[in-house]
Amino acid sequence: MTRKYNNSSYIPSKCWVGDGQKISYPTREEAEVAARVAEYDHHIKLEVYKCEYGDHWHLTSINFQKNKHKRS
Ligand SMILES: [Zn+2]
Repeated sequence: MTRKYNNSSYIPSKCWVGDGQKISYPTREEAEVAARVAEYDHHIKLEVYKCEYGDHWHLTSINFQKNKHKRS
């Protein structure tokens, strides 16, 4: 049994950052689309940022920040 790359389907690659594996996106556009889907499906706000370890992009939760009391 051999496993070959199926180049007709996109398999998200992953990257070890911080405390776990994160999905990485090859372009900023793809990351932004995924962020919008997450916002729509799960009502969570995600921010796109460039990975410092590789040439790809990640999503991070904005709610994770400390300034929770910021309300205007
Ligand atoms: Zn990365």
